Amino acid sequence: MALAQGPRRIKLECMSDFTPTERTQVKRLPKRGKYERETVLAILDAGFVCHVGFSVDGQPYVIPTNYGRSGDTVYLHGSAASRMLRTLSEGVPMSVTVTHVDGLVLARSAFHHSVNYRSVVILGTARLVTEPAEKMEALRVFTEHVMKGRWDDVRQPTEQELKATTVLALPLKEVSAKVRTGGPIDDEEDYALPVWAGVLPLETSVKEPVPDPQRKCDQPIPPYLMNYSR
Ligand SMILES: Cc1cc2nc3c(=O)[nH]c(=O)nc-3n(C[C@H](O)[C@H](O)[C@H](O)COP(=O)(O)OP(=O)(O)OC[C@H]3O[C@@H](n4cnc5c(N)ncnc54)[C@H](O)[C@@H]3O)c2cc1C
Repeated sequence: MALAQGPRRIKLECMSDFTPTERTQVKRLPKRGKYERETVLAILDAGFVCHVGFSVDGQPYVIPTNYGRSGDTVYLHGSAASRMLRTLSEGVPMSVTVTHVDGLVLARSAFHHSVNYRSVVILGTARLVTEPAEKMEALRVFTEHVMKGRWDDVRQPTEQELKATTVLALPLKEVSAKVRTGGPIDDEEDYALPVWAGVLPLETSVKEPVPDPQRKCDQPIPPYLMNYSR
């Protein structure tokens, strides 16, 4: 991703693509596997909920959580008491999966039904962020990733709140994306069947903001909320 600044274009992200490894090579329908940095980052930036896979005492877990991204780092955060974060801060191997469903693909046969989607899988180990300035910046990135404009509007975390919060940094090194687009792919002889076929597009919609009933004063709805989209 390159952003224009003045007459020169300055590259803000390292532009090299990800290299598939034995673990991240998409095997089923490999043409849907994507390793271009731009594709991976766009999928990560379109969402803020991921599923974290890890194992504790030989038991596998997959836990949903929020994330933020800056450059080649994905940040996770939560209570310092969280088993997930305590486990991952010890350098336990983990995965992070982000999924967007774009449509239901309705084929003429049950077998060829599918889903249009964009997803990313990240493998690696996380680093516990301890340095206070980096931790604060990671929380800013995290908050801004979920809702751009929010950080400057709200009270900043106190020292006590920082202590109660664990922040993990997962580098984007071993990464793959997989993307399906388009209509159903039916068997040739099935195209003549009298069955409706096509795509039902799906998307997340933004509704009217609901003010907190416990508010002590009325505030105008901030512009970043009015214009929220992903
Ligand atoms: C959309 C979304 C965003 C979230 N964002 C964050 C975040 O940013 N930070 C954060 O710390 N937490 C977040 N959570 C909550 C997170 O899923 C965990 O519940 C939380 O981190 C507590 O983890 P833990 O390690 O204490 O739970 P554990 O001690 O690991 O949980 C014990 C067991 O409880 C059950 N469990 C735990 N969480 C869930 C769940 N979400 N749904 C169903 N069963 C569950 C599982 O069976 C699990 O094995 C989010 C949840 C959702 C759905």
